[in-house]
Amino acid sequence: MVTIDPPTERTCERCGREDVWNADRQTWVIRTSDGEKRVGNPQCLHEWDINGAYSPVVES
Ligand SMILES: [Zn+2]
Repeated sequence: MVTIDPPTERTCERCGREDVWNADRQTWVIRTSDGEKRVGNPQCLHEWDINGAYSPVVES
């Protein structure tokens, strides 16, 4: 039995963009904080802080 615990939030280490996981829509959405969307830099090739820790488990 394999249990995965996917992250529910992520932050770009380059531009500061913040996403939160929307379980209903099964997608990432931009976090809104203090009425302001944390969009970061739209030109950025985002470097998410979860990249190293999270990899989907694949049974072979
Ligand atoms: Zn970024």
